[in-house]
Amino acid sequence: MTHKKPYKHIFYFIVAMVLPALFLLHACSDDDNVFIMPGEGEHYTVHFIDVGQGDAIFVETPEKVMLVDGGWGDGTVVEYLEGLEIEYIDIVIGTHPHADHIQGLVDVFYEFEVGEVIDPGVTHTSQTFQDYLAVIDLYDIPFTAGRKGMEWELSEHAHMKLVHPVNPSEYHLNNASIVAHVTLGEVTLLLTGDAEENAENQMLNEPELLASDILKVGHHGSNTSSQMAFLEAVDPAVSVIQCGKDNQYGHPHEPVLERLNAIGTEIYRTDLHGNIVVTIEDGVEYEVHTDQ
Ligand SMILES: [Zn+2]
Repeated sequence: MTHKKPYKHIFYFIVAMVLPALFLLHACSDDDNVFIMPGEGEHYTVHFIDVGQGDAIFVETPEKVMLVDGGWGDGTVVEYLEGLEIEYIDIVIGTHPHADHIQGLVDVFYEFEVGEVIDPGVTHTSQTFQDYLAVIDLYDIPFTAGRKGMEWELSEHAHMKLVHPVNPSEYHLNNASIVAHVTLGEVTLLLTGDAEENAENQMLNEPELLASDILKVGHHGSNTSSQMAFLEAVDPAVSVIQCGKDNQYGHPHEPVLERLNAIGTEIYRTDLHGNIVVTIEDGVEYEVHTDQ
């Protein structure tokens, strides 16, 4: 399915009106500036990788690539990235220390060269988390404790800004989740990890930071998350739920699906659609492709 940004026509209108004026100006100056639409000439791909009951999202831009979570340690993500012929990953985010998000990152750190790691900087007693820290240490990968307001450039027209956490606690790891607002040309994504209502309420203090075209639905579609006010603030055209077929938690929960339907977003699910890949051409038009 092809989506067009509603204000694309406004861009064309501006281009149609402004370009002739710029050419006229250009004719009588030595200025070599040319009017270019944000993201023009840049192509991006976002992979919501089917890792069963867990999260793994891979973002490709012309300059940098980024992996947000790595699913379980069953080799799925490594195999997927090898299929894309990836050798170097600029940024890896471990949204929070639960195994369904970071266990697969351990293999990723062994198999690929990684530029830097971002996570909430909270500790967890699990063996998986100890293994994750040990391999970051082993390869001496630069580490940042991600906090709201931090920004990273991904390419000329792509960047990421964190909208959560402010003050994460190791006593509630889901609510410590890194939440990243990613801008790819004119298309925006909100990647929420397993953030629950408490975290959503904090983010709702600045709802203008949340609006996004594509939402990675929080906590695998659990009813602990995706309250109506939060969904309305994000107002996504497309929502992606990463969960496993017949998972033991009953994700996605029916009330969440009802709320998503109520805001009129298209729903994609890894348990039903397999891998979900979004391609963005010239930074404006995007298409959603699925395995099934
Ligand atoms: Zn999870």
